[in-house]
Amino acid sequence: MDSDFIVIGAGIAGASVAALLAAEARVILLEREDHPGFHSTGRSAALFSEIYGNETVRALSRASRPFFLDPPQDFSETDLVRQRGSLFLASAAQLEQLDAFAALPDIAPVTRRLSGEQLTELCPQIRADFVVAGVLEPQSMDIEVHELHQGYLRLFRRRGGTLITEAPVDAMVREDGGWRVAAGSRRLRAPVVINAAGAWADAVAALAGVAPIGLQPYRRTAVLVDPPQGAATDKWPMMIDIDEEFYVKPDAGLLLVSPADETPSDPCDAQPDELDIATAIYRAEEALKLDVRRTKRSWAGLRSFVADRTPVVGFDPEAEGFFWLAGQGGYGIQTAPALARAAAALAQHGDLPPDLLAQGVRQADLAPDRLRRN
Ligand SMILES: Cc1cc2nc3c(=O)[nH]c(=O)nc-3n(C[C@H](O)[C@H](O)[C@H](O)COP(=O)(O)OP(=O)(O)OC[C@H]3O[C@@H](n4cnc5c(N)ncnc54)[C@H](O)[C@@H]3O)c2cc1C
Repeated sequence: MDSDFIVIGAGIAGASVAALLAAEARVILLEREDHPGFHSTGRSAALFSEIYGNETVRALSRASRPFFLDPPQDFSETDLVRQRGSLFLASAAQLEQLDAFAALPDIAPVTRRLSGEQLTELCPQIRADFVVAGVLEPQSMDIEVHELHQGYLRLFRRRGGTLITEAPVDAMVREDGGWRVAAGSRRLRAPVVINAAGAWADAVAALAGVAPIGLQPYRRTAVLVDPPQGAATDKWPMMIDIDEEFYVKPDAGLLLVSPADETPSDPCDAQPDELDIATAIYRAEEALKLDVRRTKRSWAGLRSFVADRTPVVGFDPEAEGFFWLAGQGGYGIQTAPALARAAAALAQHGDLPPDLLAQGVRQADLAPDRLRRN
């Protein structure tokens, strides 16, 4: 089967770039699992925050906000986002760090510093003896991740793209100006391959004989628990420790609690560990008046980073027609609209869209060759 682009991996990264490329090109999207979204994309905490992640991630998130608020007509059946503040919390020992964070030039204009008293007004369950100050980002949001992902997949199909599931790419070779790709029993060909394989991106590169970018997947755990009786938790912001040692987020009448763990892992179907679940509950109960008796559900997923924790987008400097869209870490949902536009433009040998440049996204910060230089 011949096409212009073969995209490997149908998580949010692969689905979004495939949908954009399909406007003008023949695109095949290959997914190893029997349904897209089985790995990291289906396991996130669904946060959109412009103050979460490093400077480039924050710029990508700002550039993604307009899409979330006003997606193209027919993209989705429901809203993609719902207002939910984000609140970074500090104990007395963390105050200096909180203030340094709040003073950053792109953080200050979109946040408000809250005293201990203001915190307990906002959320009476905060333990005032442990949490002494916070920084609130009122305009952060919950993302309807399934709707976003399905919206891109629908757009892809409407534009004539072909999604093939249960199609594990297991061999690739560059021949006669194109890539020959084997995925199970299927044989495909395209001049450009886009590697959007999430935690497996380095493994996919190895199949093609391409040098790795040094991607490291880290396991992160999430647990759903009952909220405290009588608490108006739906009005709570997401609460994140300033050192990212835990977070708590209202989730459809329950509370999602995470120890914000980062345990190095091989690429795999990540499973939660009992100790991480217990740590999540212990840390959340230290900061909030919760009394967790049992957990409703728990899961884990992988967040994959390269050394500088910035996504990797661009053609490999040493392998013709091999394009990277990887290393989204813990921000791949909230940055997906901007990353997809960046990737689609660069994969077609264009420039970054002007609105991304205006937000401070720079091609050199995303380019894979930065990792080879180091
Ligand atoms: C607990 C947790 C909380 C998170 N919270 C947030 C959050 O609040 N906000 C946010 O923005 N992000 C969050 N993230 C991060 C976000 O989920 C990821 O950045 C994002 O899902 C990455 O998308 P992806 O498409 O690159 O990866 P994936 O969704 O993992 O997709 C990669 C796909 O490639 C496929 N694949 C791999 N190898 C092959 C092959 N050889 N052939 C064919 N297919 C292949 C896999 O099967 C997989 O479906 C969180 C992650 C976790 C785990």
